[in-house]
Amino acid sequence: MNLQDVENLIRPNIVKMKPYVCARHNTSTGVLLNANENPYGKYNRYPDPMAGDLKNALSKFLNVAPEMTMATNGSDEAIDLIMRMFGQPGKDSILILEPTFGMYQLYAEINDLAVESVMLDENFQIDLSAVLKKIEEQPEIKIIFFCSPNNPTGNCMRSEDILTICEKFSGVVVVDEAYVEFSDQESLVGGIDQYSNLIVLRTLSKAWAAASLRIGYMVAQKEIITNFYRIKPPYDIGGENQRIAIELLRGEMKTKEILENKKKLKDDLESMGLKIYPSDSNFFLMQIPQAQKIYTRLVEKGIIVRDRSDQIKDCLRITIGDKAECELLTSSLKEILKKVAFIDRDGVILFEPQDDFQVDSLEKYKMLPGVVEGLKKLQNAGYSLVMVSNQNGIGTPSFPEENFLIPHNKMIADLASGGVAFEEIFVCPHFATDGCECRKPKTGLIKKYLEKNPIDYSASFVIGDRMTDVELAENIGVKGYKIDTNSDGLLQTINKLLP
Ligand code: PMP
Repeated sequence: MNLQDVENLIRPNIVKMKPYVCARHNTSTGVLLNANENPYGKYNRYPDPMAGDLKNALSKFLNVAPEMTMATNGSDEAIDLIMRMFGQPGKDSILILEPTFGMYQLYAEINDLAVESVMLDENFQIDLSAVLKKIEEQPEIKIIFFCSPNNPTGNCMRSEDILTICEKFSGVVVVDEAYVEFSDQESLVGGIDQYSNLIVLRTLSKAWAAASLRIGYMVAQKEIITNFYRIKPPYDIGGENQRIAIELLRGEMKTKEILENKKKLKDDLESMGLKIYPSDSNFFLMQIPQAQKIYTRLVEKGIIVRDRSDQIKDCLRITIGDKAECELLTSSLKEILKKVAFIDRDGVILFEPQDDFQVDSLEKYKMLPGVVEGLKKLQNAGYSLVMVSNQNGIGTPSFPEENFLIPHNKMIADLASGGVAFEEIFVCPHFATDGCECRKPKTGLIKKYLEKNPIDYSASFVIGDRMTDVELAENIGVKGYKIDTNSDGLLQTINKLLP
């Protein structure tokens, strides 16, 4: 699109209107009797409506002409202004790529613009062909909002894709780069000279640690920016805030420590087995079963993260705090997450006959020494007990289920009378030759359990008497301990783990 085409997208009522000229438009010195200000006090004068000195400071920081920038009351205001400039209420639409920042939708609703959306792909990247198809099918889409790095997913969008869309779309492309200073990817400010329909949004709220000042800014070709001054509220940025922002821009961004804290927090959470999504921002998504419950448990401990599980399954969005805050989050999660002891049955809890390997009658039933003592110790240390057992061919004529259940139920009763309760008991009834997904060392038996339960993988373990138990541990991602069959190894191991 050439510049004229972009200017032709501006709503006709805005093109026609005569801009308001405020009292402080050109005058800030002399005997100022034109703005109905109070002559007394420190904050008595209206601020510079053009935020000229701030524009100069931004221009220096970005290495672009000052006329290509316009400061706004947070980048939130810029989002609203762009919609008001180009979107005909009740007629035009915007396009967003979900999941993304909620303010695009909110401002569209306020401005009576319909919201179209295309989902990001499985890597939270732009589905380029879906976007191109959508804009071709729906010419009422006037503005596309890209958020890069994206909130809440944290990752940068591919710049080539955004520029391809700038090339092919006959509307306005907005790239919200609120978090770009935390990423290694170059800002798209560099693409503005080439694309007159590209508007980049930035802010001092994140990397500059100045959310309270409410200073965002827009960068675009200067003719586009000039038009925005026609609709911007003249005194949207307080004078003190302009002054502080200029001072901040003379210093350094506060990104280095955040990135260090982020790396450490990510390592710590990953070592507990939690999934952290790749992030180019000062936050990341953490996947955790029962995210909503975990969120509430953290709130109870005074730690507030953002529950995003309604947008992305099982995900909490975590802002990177200072060192102490990150450590508190890690230690609180350690307290909240389940520690699980996965315990094999035969040869570990019950005596296993070494001829037919089946405990299928009361005559064969014998609890091994130290079992109750050991398991109680685990329970007292806060462990959940989960039994995981292969039982070759239960339900077949050679091993009827009732023959299994009689000694099995006695075991449960004996454990209960000793004060031990298993949270879950999982039994694979197949033979090795069946090729089932549930026979140890495969994890099929406990797959659902693991999906449902937020577990501290670094503190959880498997104890069994076969190599398949150790392999199961590996497959789950926890430690595995192999003991001698029919010994008091369960208690010995537990004593070593919990001295
Ligand atoms: N864009 C994105 C993607 C954001 O996450 C936020 C703040 N949460 C903003 C814009 C708004 O920033 P500002 O403080 O500059 O209004």
